[in-house]
Amino acid sequence: MSYGLTGACETTSDNITSTDGEYHQYLSHYNTPVLLHDIRSLHTQREGGGERLRTSGRTINTASRFQQQSSPYSNGHHSSSILNGHNRLDDTEEQLQLQQQQIDSDYGELAPDRPELLMWGLTKSGKTSIIKLIFDKMTAGETLQLPETKMILRHELSCGIHVKFKICDVPGPKTASLLDFDAYSAECTTIVFVLDATEDCSDSINLLVSSVQQLYSQGRNIRFEVLIHKIDGVHEPDRLERYSSIQQKVTVMLHECSIEEPLINFYLTSIYDHSIHEAFSKIVQNQMRQLRALENMLDLVTASTQLDKIFVCDISNKIFLASDTKPVESQISELCCDVVDVYKDISSIYGQNSSSVLDSMSNCTIELSIGLVLYLKDINSTTALICILKRESRINEALMEVNLNVLKQNIQELFLANSNYSPRQQIYPSME
Ligand code: GDP
Repeated sequence: MSYGLTGACETTSDNITSTDGEYHQYLSHYNTPVLLHDIRSLHTQREGGGERLRTSGRTINTASRFQQQSSPYSNGHHSSSILNGHNRLDDTEEQLQLQQQQIDSDYGELAPDRPELLMWGLTKSGKTSIIKLIFDKMTAGETLQLPETKMILRHELSCGIHVKFKICDVPGPKTASLLDFDAYSAECTTIVFVLDATEDCSDSINLLVSSVQQLYSQGRNIRFEVLIHKIDGVHEPDRLERYSSIQQKVTVMLHECSIEEPLINFYLTSIYDHSIHEAFSKIVQNQMRQLRALENMLDLVTASTQLDKIFVCDISNKIFLASDTKPVESQISELCCDVVDVYKDISSIYGQNSSSVLDSMSNCTIELSIGLVLYLKDINSTTALICILKRESRINEALMEVNLNVLKQNIQELFLANSNYSPRQQIYPSME
């Protein structure tokens, strides 16, 4: 479920590219995640042979972690090509892994200083729950048992392709007190301020404003990402009003302190739905130096391949590292999260325990009854490209595959912009 306004996120439906009535009808009625019965067809296979799963007539390809063994459908000739393919695949995979290790170690040298996010806000506002849910695979229900945070916890996190940062969880004050704030914020580059929307917000707002003021007075114009959190506990029609009134109060108070243009974004969030992933994706994107370049690459691919939308997603924590710059309905990114869940579930059932969820042969195509096709393809062992296209669009599949492979390589190289890697490859334009 989406709460509409999420900081700088564009969610205008006017700009959605679809003219498909079915699709619009779906969006207007959308309020729960897509369930498996919405998936018209799902089919998995590994290129070169292996397990094949067919749940209905058309094709799904989820080709990750699937055992490379002779398919029950294959004949002798096919089996031998599998064998050859197997060796070639193993070699390629080994090469890719070596290349990946090299990129990781080079990147460590190039960017030793990682951004540090400080989770800040009153005690029990939900700071630890957010970190545990997104990065520790804790369920929302399990966070109910979390003990009070009594000490500083620093986590080194890695998101998708070489996006590395630190996150610092601290015991929040019980009232708007800045005691210890200087020590907590000394190293941080961004503050994620969590505000419990179900309680009287005046203490939280005072703490937020005095924290901005404190840093401003030290000459540090640090970005504040404000999560108006636990929004599931606010009656639905009142949510936008709550959002505007908090935003307005903060702006007025900062204006009174002569802080004219604070770097501050507001998001409505809850750990009980997709909104926390969407907000945290924006926060992570704001840490990435490569974001604009990455977006340009994705724009080029959507334009040349006639895809509706393309996302780069860390599949382990469902953080979206980038997408092309066409505005997106938040329901669409929620759909992508569902694709990731479906993919991971199938992979965990049919995959090998020893291999990673994504590998160089991974891909998954899911066709929805609302006229959309979602296509997932690996970039590295944790990051995937998720493409959205309309079922009836006349896409040149070969061109799409070539361009996605070029994109995959260029994305890897983008994160090594200063190193001696080979120049970027060109995206091939569509002939249409
Ligand atoms: P912290 O002291 O700021 O770290 O707060 P915690 O993470 O310990 O969370 C305090 C309580 O808030 C826990 O019982 C969580 O289950 C609950 N909580 C966290 N996020 C949400 C949310 O989005 N909605 C609701 N309803 N409860 C939440």
